[in-house]
Amino acid sequence: MSEFWSPIVHTLEPYVPGEQPKAANLIKLNTNENPYGPSPRVIDAIKVATDAGLQLYPDPNATELKQTIADYHQIGVDHVFVGNGSDEVLAHVFHALFQHEAPILFPDITYSFYSVYCKLYQIDSELIPLTEDFSLDIADYQQENGGIIFPNPNAPTGKGLGLAEIETLLKSNTQSVVVIDEAYIDFGGESAISLVKQYPNLLVTQTLSKSRSLAGMRIGFAIGHPELIDALTRVKDSFNSYPMDKLAIAAGVAAFADEDYFQQTRQAIMDSREALIVELIELGFDVVSSEANFVFAKHPKFNASDIAESLRKQDIIVRYFDKARINQHLRITIGTEAENQQLISVLRKVL
Ligand code: PMP
Repeated sequence: MSEFWSPIVHTLEPYVPGEQPKAANLIKLNTNENPYGPSPRVIDAIKVATDAGLQLYPDPNATELKQTIADYHQIGVDHVFVGNGSDEVLAHVFHALFQHEAPILFPDITYSFYSVYCKLYQIDSELIPLTEDFSLDIADYQQENGGIIFPNPNAPTGKGLGLAEIETLLKSNTQSVVVIDEAYIDFGGESAISLVKQYPNLLVTQTLSKSRSLAGMRIGFAIGHPELIDALTRVKDSFNSYPMDKLAIAAGVAAFADEDYFQQTRQAIMDSREALIVELIELGFDVVSSEANFVFAKHPKFNASDIAESLRKQDIIVRYFDKARINQHLRITIGTEAENQQLISVLRKVL
């Protein structure tokens, strides 16, 4: 605590990201990264952009990247906003669209950054409990609110929600912005981007960190009605003119150009996920059905924190949350086939 701090700094509860250890030989299944790496075309594009020089500022509007995303999703470029990771996009969403009288609504078990942004921007929130089996029930969101946000599929559970239910929510909730955080949508979910033209209060966010394996580049985007995009742009231009550097713009454009690579790698992850679920169940785990690049599992006989610790001693890291309702679960990122096999063989030993 410091007398020099602005008062609000004392009240913040900063987000704690998953560990990024330096050791090289670890099997890292703790932060939902993609084990395959980006398309080789992305690496080439970064080299070309670097060779062309970095002395000039990048395009403050990242127009080429926005146009690429607009074309990919068949929507006008005025419906697209880009940011330095979807975390930055989400921060601007909270700032630009959620600061109202009524509290915003989000699930009790969800991406923990949402409550961090609420503190930062002094937004009231009401946590809506997921059902016993971690399902999100749209009926629980029928109340006055300053906005609604949840990931689809949800994190850290991996459970998906169908488009019909999202549309039901949009039909009944017309007076505030509904944000669907689709960080993991490419691993089997149904995107709500198709609903954007019908519902002016719908904003969909996505990231290139997961399905396009570019977590290190920091590229996220939002798609919604131009008036929502305008609000985000006004906040962005009051904060940082150049959140997307030249290399990120080039990398993002190249990532969307390699559709084959995208399809192959996301399919490989989905196939591995289903195989891993079968093996975890054989080992006695209860596994939540997943539409993401991770699974959420608990073992009825062993403490989740003990399992995580034992795995760690064998150089495998998974994510454990010391939090009510989920402190007996582990969130395990889908790795390569070899990594998943190593996980299973170590689990066989430690359980
Ligand atoms: N939303 C959810 C649900 C996430 O799990 C993450 C990754 N931690 C993000 C958004 C942010 O991803 P990024 O900033 O890498 O785009």
